[in-house]
Amino acid sequence: MQQFFSHSIESFTDWVTDHGQPSYRAGQVYEWMFAKKVFDFSQMTNLPENFRKLLIENFTLPAWKIEKQVSTDGTQKFHFELEDGKSIEAVWIPEKNRQTLCVSSQVGCALKCQFCVTGLQGFARNLTQEEILEQIRHVMFVENLPLTNLVFMGMGEPLLNFENLCSAIDLLKEPKAFGFGHRKISVSTAGTVPKILPFIDRTNVSLAVSLTGSTDETRNHWMPINQKYNLSILKETLMQVPQTKWKKIMFEVVMIHQKTDTEEQAKNLVKFLRGMKAKVNLIPYNENEHFPQLKAPKREDLMKYRDILMKAGYYVSIRKNRGQDIMGACGQLSSHLNQAKMSS
Ligand code: SF4
Repeated sequence: MQQFFSHSIESFTDWVTDHGQPSYRAGQVYEWMFAKKVFDFSQMTNLPENFRKLLIENFTLPAWKIEKQVSTDGTQKFHFELEDGKSIEAVWIPEKNRQTLCVSSQVGCALKCQFCVTGLQGFARNLTQEEILEQIRHVMFVENLPLTNLVFMGMGEPLLNFENLCSAIDLLKEPKAFGFGHRKISVSTAGTVPKILPFIDRTNVSLAVSLTGSTDETRNHWMPINQKYNLSILKETLMQVPQTKWKKIMFEVVMIHQKTDTEEQAKNLVKFLRGMKAKVNLIPYNENEHFPQLKAPKREDLMKYRDILMKAGYYVSIRKNRGQDIMGACGQLSSHLNQAKMSS
């Protein structure tokens, strides 16, 4: 038995022709799934009966145990128990003009950022292509939730799961399958430098870079990956990104009270950004029991930090905290079910 979404369209088409069917049958299967929302092969009534039988005997979709929490602000967090018993989470965030799913790429994470609950649990394994895609398929076609944007900002460092991430993105962009425009998909990296240029070469989706500290000293502490690839190595790599691929680089900064939200950090960020076409997204730290010593930034500090960047000519956005009450906000995802009430 094979997982249906472990195939690309090309490899599934090859499978179809290898089994004596015309290649257009592959397109018919995708049409049932993505145009008619039918994933049960037995109901694909314009396929010959023997071919339907062959599909049933050979292909399956992940059978996950799924639990869901709904925040008072409408955000929904999905806790997926995978077939090997490991768990991941994805978060659906509805806004006025867009609905975004924050997708996981790994079970846990090896990078140990010092403000992140996922980092605390350590790394278990990479997600497969079909496990990445199943999070999205579940939300779109089982929950029937509208979805306009995807951000790979859930559990894990996406660029450390390079091949599965890229092949999943191929199907996400494929008009006959998920059909997301490349501008609607964004991948956030903690700074896995050797994979940045190959990723930009391989896909044309947006890449965001999580910085948080704007000096090596600060970033070495909060994001230990900086000890391996420091800020100057990171900048040198980003400066090589062709302008045609990336008009402006998005940098994310987790704002932690009196740690990363200071005036000095803002001024150092301006120095770091010099020479790059950049925009900055400030993410106010989401307080939680795992890091009781870390506090959310005060509004006046957030504004001061933002103004320093804006005066230097950079576009700055401030992330709204969503799903905090269900531990669904940025940096709060974990494989462990939390205390809050879950519903199936
Ligand atoms: S912030 Fe991202 S890269 Fe860092 S530990 Fe958490 S999941 Fe990993």
